[in-house]
Amino acid sequence: MIYIAKPEIGDEEIHAVNQVLKSGMLSQGPKVAELEKDWAEYCGTKHALAVNSGTAAIHAALFATGIQTGDEVITTPFSFIATINPIIMLGAKPVLVDIDRETFNIDSTKIEAAITSRTKAIMPVHLYGQPADMTKIQDIANRNNLTIIEDSCQAIGAEYKGKKAGNLGSLGCFSLYATKNIMCGEGGIVTTNDDEHAKLIRQFRQHGMSGSYQYEHLGYNYRLTDLQAAIAVEQLKKVDKFTKARQDNAEFFDEHLKNVSSIVTPNPTSDRTHVYHQYTLVISDKCRFSRDEIVKKLKEQGIVAGVYYPQPLHHIEHIAKITGRHPGDFPITEELTKKVLSLPVHPMLTPEDRETIVGAIKEATGE
Ligand SMILES: *Cc1c(COP(=O)(O)O)cnc(C)c1O
Repeated sequence: MIYIAKPEIGDEEIHAVNQVLKSGMLSQGPKVAELEKDWAEYCGTKHALAVNSGTAAIHAALFATGIQTGDEVITTPFSFIATINPIIMLGAKPVLVDIDRETFNIDSTKIEAAITSRTKAIMPVHLYGQPADMTKIQDIANRNNLTIIEDSCQAIGAEYKGKKAGNLGSLGCFSLYATKNIMCGEGGIVTTNDDEHAKLIRQFRQHGMSGSYQYEHLGYNYRLTDLQAAIAVEQLKKVDKFTKARQDNAEFFDEHLKNVSSIVTPNPTSDRTHVYHQYTLVISDKCRFSRDEIVKKLKEQGIVAGVYYPQPLHHIEHIAKITGRHPGDFPITEELTKKVLSLPVHPMLTPEDRETIVGAIKEATGE
């Protein structure tokens, strides 16, 4: 089977974990500090704060922004549910905006119409590893005094006009979950250039603690372990190598699938880099088979394709309830949830795997 994701764990990661075990410093210790330093340097931000998931990173970033009951945060219905749940966890309301068909990211031309007197932040998601339309989003945020929180969970290393994801707004959120471009099982990072945001996130991840058993506000236990940080430190050293392998795989698929008329291959925008967390095809109306039929046929040939995401977020009950949105409200998202399909593009693919995938797609689409 060729799986959609396969973490690459080398001797370096294993050795680093062993060292932590022998050191006895297991949580929020020197390895977490090392990871934060390296991550900030990599993204070009002043701070990086480690937490124990991407969801916690988004929750902490929203908290640091001051999001509270009654506030509104603009984001997209075409994402993983963890983009939206933390907004609801703070008692705020997600306000959804449809996506751009070409990039799968929030349609920047539709953001302004969604702004109200309660809007506090915009959270673009750099979906599949390609940054959203940041110049336009920054312009809208500046004119309306809004904070930008990037959901960069799929976009470590992606650049927009030469600047890295996580440094394109006020706060950037990353995930180190097992299937992400670099990982440590579970983990998350928030990046920021703002000292006050950094201070609030440090407190938030530790019960709101500001000094020795002094508590300034509500907080959680969102600490990362040193065992995980040790893995992430080693993975971060390899991130550019992994990204290059993903981009090479993507280029191979672009080249070998360009004549398959019933699918549309990704079409990255020239002012940004795509780190291919996913290589996502759109099955066109010309195809004789449905997306779900193609997924099934690929599986029969030993390839696990992914569907990200099979359901628009506003179709999920608790989100429909709080947003007041219904099927039909975001037609592009709704259409694409039925047509997208992601191929394995991870760095562990062999040259034979790539050939197998191309052959299987041609076979499954009947071309
Ligand atoms: C993975 C992911 C998250 C959440 O990260 P976890 O580490 O799984 O909590 C949030 N948003 C997007 C777009 C993601 O891909």
